[in-house]
Amino acid sequence: MLLDPTLPVRAYPGKTFQCSCGREHSTRLQEVIIEPGALKKVPGLLARLGFARPLVVFDTNTRAAAGDALMAILKEAGQPFDFFCFENPELIADEAGLGAVLMALTDANDSLLAVGTGTINDLCKYTAHMTNRPYAVVGTAPSMDGFSSGVCALIRSDMKTTLQGTMPRAVVGDVDVLRLSPMDMIQAGVGDILGKYTCLLDWKLSHIINDEYYCPAIAEMMKRAVDTVAENAAGVYAREPDAVAAVMEALVLSGIAMSYSVNSRPASGCEHHISHYLEMRFMFDGRKPVLHGRKVGTATTLAAYCYHRLAEESPDFDAASNVVSFDFDAWADRIRRSYTRAADSVISLEREAHKNEPDRVRARLAAAKAHWDEIRSAIEELPSAAQIEGMLRASGAPTTPAEIGVEVPLLREAICRCKEVRNRYTLWQLLYDLGMLERYADEAAPLFGKAE
Ligand SMILES: [Zn+2]
Ligand SMILES: [Zn+2]
Repeated sequence: MLLDPTLPVRAYPGKTFQCSCGREHSTRLQEVIIEPGALKKVPGLLARLGFARPLVVFDTNTRAAAGDALMAILKEAGQPFDFFCFENPELIADEAGLGAVLMALTDANDSLLAVGTGTINDLCKYTAHMTNRPYAVVGTAPSMDGFSSGVCALIRSDMKTTLQGTMPRAVVGDVDVLRLSPMDMIQAGVGDILGKYTCLLDWKLSHIINDEYYCPAIAEMMKRAVDTVAENAAGVYAREPDAVAAVMEALVLSGIAMSYSVNSRPASGCEHHISHYLEMRFMFDGRKPVLHGRKVGTATTLAAYCYHRLAEESPDFDAASNVVSFDFDAWADRIRRSYTRAADSVISLEREAHKNEPDRVRARLAAAKAHWDEIRSAIEELPSAAQIEGMLRASGAPTTPAEIGVEVPLLREAICRCKEVRNRYTLWQLLYDLGMLERYADEAAPLFGKAE
């Protein structure tokens, strides 16, 4: 079967598709149920998945949102299960959280069923992976796209880290539950999804410049889901079932797209780099964390501004190429100041990846020069910063980094340094290669950051 990017999300799990990109695409996800009243379908789902006695995991919030209702449904259906409830409302996905899930698990539990979003899902995903059990997730808020990904974001020794987990066998989103979840979480889901506009462009850019693998069908599949969320932004704010379902569907599709591309290219680009950098700095500075999708959404406005600004310029690739230089020690000094306790891993990444090496920079500039018309037309398809701001505003979400408290100097630093966090070619690396990154940061930070 050939991959058709126009199918609804429930049509992708459990199948293998041939693709025009030359690869075969599949996901370990077997089923997706996103509809009003979906909780009632969980007993039948567990039977199809062969989960004999799952450990159902929730916290006090998600227990009230869906856990109690789900347990009543399971009991009535005669489905054996055990459950574990985190009583700590400040639960984080760290060593203690993992230990608690592990200690609640018995030999009788052949599977896990997470009831929650980011933290509960990550704890169950990692435990399922390490104990070689299958798991499924009942999402309680459409707030981030990690439901259906194979990796988990965990905190180890107070540092955020990404570890291998297992794909859930199924994702359930009861729209009656999702639409009543906290509005800031739903808006975060919208932000995480709108970020796909810039990340899909980054992916295409890297394909054009670096000949990186790119699948137009996966990109199209994501683009359609993102457009649907954008069209429904006002409905999200009104908690309309179809609008909230569209956000959840796009979030789950994003995980499927990542399994198809076997990396996070369809889900994370320059806007996520800004978000990761801000998250780290907020944590180091002891500031109150901001939901992932709120950072991503506001960074998307900023990135769209910079992208369009670049398309208006006629960069002088030869002049840029002639002045390329890289002083590793001076660069490492700046990284130590910006990244502080996380600096070592960023510096060793550059030692392996050599992304800033002058020869590599010049080669990329030559490719960008040769394909500039193609690059510019790709940028022209990106919604403008004003349009993205409008979509975020319609959903009631913050629209700029200033609105989530990011001051001008911090935003300037994020623009200049965030690309070092991963070895991934994006808009920021292109601007760096052109010698224009600092100038863009000087110009954009006061427009999008908070005046002190
Ligand atoms: Zn493909
Ligand atoms: Zn994200």
